Amino acid sequence: MPGSTPFSRLATVALALACAPVSSCDRSSGPEWLPLDERLALDAPAERRSIPLPWRAGRSAELVAEHGGATLHVSIRREDWHFKPKLGVWVVPIELFMPPRAADNAVRLTTPQGPVSHARPAQLASKDQHAFTLVEGQLALSWPGDAPPEESTLSCAVLERSRSQQHRIDQGAFSGRGLTLLAGERASCRVDIGPGSALRFGTAARPFLGPVAESDGCVFRVRLDGEIRFEHRVRPDGEPGSQWHVVPLPDDGVHGARLDFEVEGSPASAMFFEPTLGPREIGRRGARPWKDARADIVVFVADTLRADSLAAYGGQPGITPHLDELAGRGLCFARAWSTATWTLPSHVSMFSGYYPPQVLPPDARTRLPQAVETVAEKLARAGYRTGAITGGGFVSSQFGVDQGFGYFLEESGELDELLSEARGFLDADDGRPTFLFVQTYRVHWPYHASERTRSELGERLALRGEADKLLDAVRDEAHAQGATSVRVQVDMTGLPSSPRMAELARQMHAHYLGGVADLDRDFATFLEHLRSSGLLESGYLVFTSDHGEGFCEHAAFFHGRVPFEEQMRVPLLIAGRNLTARRIDHPVSLIDLAPTLAEMAGVQGQPDWPGRSLLSGGAKSGAIFGFEASGNRNDSLFVLEEEKKILCVPEGTGARLVGAYDLARDGREEHDLSATDAAWPQELLGRHGASIRTLITPLVQGEAVELDADKLAELRELGY
Ligand SMILES: [Zn+2]
Repeated sequence: MPGSTPFSRLATVALALACAPVSSCDRSSGPEWLPLDERLALDAPAERRSIPLPWRAGRSAELVAEHGGATLHVSIRREDWHFKPKLGVWVVPIELFMPPRAADNAVRLTTPQGPVSHARPAQLASKDQHAFTLVEGQLALSWPGDAPPEESTLSCAVLERSRSQQHRIDQGAFSGRGLTLLAGERASCRVDIGPGSALRFGTAARPFLGPVAESDGCVFRVRLDGEIRFEHRVRPDGEPGSQWHVVPLPDDGVHGARLDFEVEGSPASAMFFEPTLGPREIGRRGARPWKDARADIVVFVADTLRADSLAAYGGQPGITPHLDELAGRGLCFARAWSTATWTLPSHVSMFSGYYPPQVLPPDARTRLPQAVETVAEKLARAGYRTGAITGGGFVSSQFGVDQGFGYFLEESGELDELLSEARGFLDADDGRPTFLFVQTYRVHWPYHASERTRSELGERLALRGEADKLLDAVRDEAHAQGATSVRVQVDMTGLPSSPRMAELARQMHAHYLGGVADLDRDFATFLEHLRSSGLLESGYLVFTSDHGEGFCEHAAFFHGRVPFEEQMRVPLLIAGRNLTARRIDHPVSLIDLAPTLAEMAGVQGQPDWPGRSLLSGGAKSGAIFGFEASGNRNDSLFVLEEEKKILCVPEGTGARLVGAYDLARDGREEHDLSATDAAWPQELLGRHGASIRTLITPLVQGEAVELDADKLAELRELGY
């Protein structure tokens, strides 16, 4: 990549050095924060050692720890296997917590006769070979014609610690700055501790092997010049998230102090997150003992929330009272479009500031390339404490979305658990301005309305039955109407219309809205926390979604298809300091989010970002663009000018018109004007042909992502 592109890290570093990082602004009057993660040197025992693990009534697994990581060996006897006739495979319930993106050879199964070949879960069913796989907490073995082997050993690299990643935690749900220790290991550094300092960090432990057998947990410890200053015991199975700690240090400071971080106890990945030296007295947000005008920023993405779910956007009143109240308190962008129809390209676009095809070259299985500098990286470099709590799926370290976040937790649990983690992160304030990103799949398929919502709103929404049963009914109706396309079966597109289908769509929408009401209720408690912690005065809250959801308006359910309005329109609310309530009616796009966040934080954006900051209400942007971004050559995109919208497909050096809608008269996009004698669609396409070529031209090389079986299973659960 040429050095002159906006992505050049060298250029960025040079720029940062020339301007001096923002964290040193106000240094004359403010404190300094010293991240210790990169200073800590691992002091792991050099020799190999074995650690017995409890496993099945007195049997033990063996953990072999080395400087470069750890390997687990589990011996399996013939009687441990159970046959699953339906699948034709033998299974043993074993959950191995491997590092994500572990190479296939990170896990091996060997018998006295030699190694068994590893297969992808989908390939295992072919019954003519000896092969194994690990999927969804099961070790599965294809062993044709015979009982499984008398003895075998499963070996797995459960912790990989290359020199380059030593200070990056990468342990499944957890990633971020910091380090992973095994029991018995220690990491140390020497550092000058200023007067009035404190040490802050997070801890989390994750077992290597599940279901977790009886375990005493492990003890996290910090020593200052040999003396214990901090001790904390955790059970690896008991605490899903992280805990955050403050360790006060001697009043007068210590010159050349030695700090040791150590772990003892049961084998587990024991993580120290973002160990940082900073001021002990930090006041509170908006009222620091030093001068700091930088804004705290929280971005909340309610995945798959279409704009008209909110009354503020024309939806039914009473479903989202708290979001509607928020809409009335700050900037409410009444006409906001996402840049993509599905999760990964939309998030990559939000956090890179570029359109999906520019940074995710065609192929749905790519990740956010490292060469792209994300908004989180910019803010981290400027001295922000950056964290993300997400629902996982595509919003995952495996897809590179963690880039720039000092702490990144992806969890598929309930929304209230996720928000409790988010509050924990906020409460662990260390005085630096905070950038927190929260993402939830609460309203995403599979739709789920809580009992409370069913009793409060069930009648009004005419909420009946279960959503997954409705999906079967949709398929049945499609077949009854003569639909034969496999698309109906696979992705619920190409559906025929009928009165029955319309009623099923209404019922699906009711279930979806039930989930929206639950989202609103949980969000309200989080919003209250932001208010009471002072964050809404000291900073900003952005509430939005990454795309909408279809309910058969255009022969499809769900999202990720042609960028019609139901898939592209999202709520966009900004509340916080100095913002007076205002409704903004001109069209805006989530491409504007990155420049908006940069302005909030007072950092420079990329000069060639296509969007513009919305903070002052948003300068009128030109046209709005949005992409199907499913990774196919014939992906469609839309271009919108005020109320006129065209759909087109790039072709040769231009683009072919495939639809045109006048949203002022036809908000539901029912009357395609592309084949009529209306001249404006071709004219609109003509005006933006050159822009389209630019926006679909990749600025970076794509990075393929290799997904492990667990991630594939997790995505399947979400319907991908
Ligand atoms: Zn999404």
